[in-house]
Amino acid sequence: MNEILKVIKGTKDILPQDVHMWHFVEKTAEEVFSRYGFEEIRTPIIEMTELFSRGVGDTTDIVNKEMYTFEKNKRSITLRPENTAGVVRSFIENGMYRQSMPVKLWYKGPMFRYERPQAGRQRQFHQVGVEVFGVSQPTVDAEVILVAINFLKSLGLTDLEVELNSLGCPKCRENFKNELKKVIQPYLNELCEDCNTRFEKNPLRLLDCKVEDCKKIYQKKEIQKVITSDFLCDDCKNHYEELKMYLDKMNVKYAENKLLVRGLDYYNRTVFEIKSKDLGSQNAVCGGGRYDNLVEQLGGSPTPAIGFAMGMERLISLLEERQPNLLDAYIVSKFKTDAFILAEELRGEGLSVDFEMGDRKFVKQLEKASKIAKYALILGEDEMAKNQISIKNLETGKQVTVNRADCVKMLEL
Ligand code: ATP
Ligand code: MG
Repeated sequence: MNEILKVIKGTKDILPQDVHMWHFVEKTAEEVFSRYGFEEIRTPIIEMTELFSRGVGDTTDIVNKEMYTFEKNKRSITLRPENTAGVVRSFIENGMYRQSMPVKLWYKGPMFRYERPQAGRQRQFHQVGVEVFGVSQPTVDAEVILVAINFLKSLGLTDLEVELNSLGCPKCRENFKNELKKVIQPYLNELCEDCNTRFEKNPLRLLDCKVEDCKKIYQKKEIQKVITSDFLCDDCKNHYEELKMYLDKMNVKYAENKLLVRGLDYYNRTVFEIKSKDLGSQNAVCGGGRYDNLVEQLGGSPTPAIGFAMGMERLISLLEERQPNLLDAYIVSKFKTDAFILAEELRGEGLSVDFEMGDRKFVKQLEKASKIAKYALILGEDEMAKNQISIKNLETGKQVTVNRADCVKMLEL
């Protein structure tokens, strides 16, 4: 087929027959997040490239391999691969730190990453997420995990697993990194190229490697001993313990996973993922964590923060098929002008209405009505003569004839 008639690899149309699922997820997000005091923020899809190299981290796959970057008027611009950096930029630029803390924001929208497309992995995909600024206490870590779980539950998803870890602070993590490097060093020539780079630039991310041979090496006793060691300083340990206490009190089940380090550079202390047992290998629906140093790193005043992002395509693939919304009424008539006038009148009353514009026969019009509407409004010769309308309930088949003036009242019942 002609190239211009194909969507670009890794992107998808969301067609009218599927868009109601998206509306459902978006509406649920708004409802659940507002219940927790979050407000929506919408930031641009393009940002300065440097925002991401500094904000997401230039040792990450996202920044190194996956960004859509272009130059315009000698400036390097990037299609956002994620939205935390953009929200932090906006937080600083708009002086939101002057508001009383916490500032609780949520967002939804398209993100762009040049990855190998496969089931559950696209190049343009959508995320919905939250960010909370200004609170370092673990209460907010627990609340952010709870809002994620309750959002997923409100969508009808239950077969979920929460994985939890603490990465400590830059101070206590430094020891851990050094110990890790010491035990991994002897295996460097057996590890993949990426791991060799990570070893130099960001050793924690070694644990994130998906290559089987590397994973096997990290199972070795002396390496496991370091991985499972308790390296957290007292403050970080207390923070983590308190978070777990809240989760226990709220009956949130979680599994601690020392290998959970997350792909982005900016995390500290709490990191978590929520996985669905129903998804294949791309089974993470939600990833999040604390990023207490990012606001300062990007030029704002020191502000603790935490957030998560969820992949909307993956969420939607888990949902039961839902019925699309039907129109309230479809007008079946050969008297086009009258049908048009009636449609406008009913639309003015807030009802969703369509009418036959073509020259199809009565039966065909009724067939169309039964596919897309709850009621057929029949305006035939008899009805026209008596200024009446026949209303057919397309679910039950029951039909009544009423005076035209009573039509709205009948439909609202
Ligand atoms: P993964 O390990 O699956 O690549 P990630 O760690 O890169 O995930 P995050 O950057 O934390 O993911 O994004 C949060 C969520 O966004 C993921 O859990 C996933 O549901 C979704 N997501 C990330 N990348 C893609 C993609 N290319 N296509 C579809 N969904 C994605
Ligand atoms: Mg990824």
